[in-house]
Amino acid sequence: CRADCIVFACGAGAAAWYPDISPSAGQVAVFAGEAPAQPVTWGGYACAAPGGVLVGATHVAGEDAGPDEPAIAGFREAYARHFPSLKAGEVVQTWRGVRASTPDRLPVAGALGPRSFVLSGLGSRGFAHAPLLAEHVAALAHGHMPALPRSAAEAFDPARFEIRRQRRGG
Ligand SMILES: Cc1cc2nc3c(=O)[nH]c(=O)nc-3n(C[C@H](O)[C@H](O)[C@H](O)COP(=O)(O)OP(=O)(O)OC[C@H]3O[C@@H](n4cnc5c(N)ncnc54)[C@H](O)[C@@H]3O)c2cc1C
Repeated sequence: CRADCIVFACGAGAAAWYPDISPSAGQVAVFAGEAPAQPVTWGGYACAAPGGVLVGATHVAGEDAGPDEPAIAGFREAYARHFPSLKAGEVVQTWRGVRASTPDRLPVAGALGPRSFVLSGLGSRGFAHAPLLAEHVAALAHGHMPALPRSAAEAFDPARFEIRRQRRGG
């Protein structure tokens, strides 16, 4: 970033500067045992991970994912239902975090003002979307050619929610 600009790329913490971000907490767990041969999704998901099989994920509105036990029981139940021949053994590891969501479930990536930028709202898909969107925001911050075509840049424009509110008259 240029020395005179700031980029807010702090997940759900961006809500302090960009109020259309809302938090959605969640957990995953790794169980000892055999994983399916390929990653599988059913709304939840399971895939091989160091130590066994990773099963996820819960979605809880707000910043608190809640206690571990009900989430772990839910993961075991879902794993047994989808893979009756495989067993989720002892818990090897748990992880919890807070997703950043937007009203239209698309990320926000772009300028907030003349010298401020935001990259947030990656929801449940940050691993896939973050690299390209980060390149886009970095290009804008440096005054370089945007990394996204105009239609995509507009879809992720941080101003879109304010524009929609103004169109609705409020
Ligand atoms: C349970 C769960 C399962 C998930 N599974 C997947 C998945 O399978 N695939 C996938 O693509 N995505 C998944 N995600 C989503 C993925 O984790 C996020 O999309 C991604 O982490 C977003 O990256 P980020 O850098 O924007 O935010 P974060 O990873 O949340 O990082 C933000 C960082 O900013 C810091 N921060 C916050 N406020 C401030 C502040 N005021 N000042 C300085 N620093 C601050 C935080 O401490 C944190 O380190 C999952 C999320 C959860 C919770």
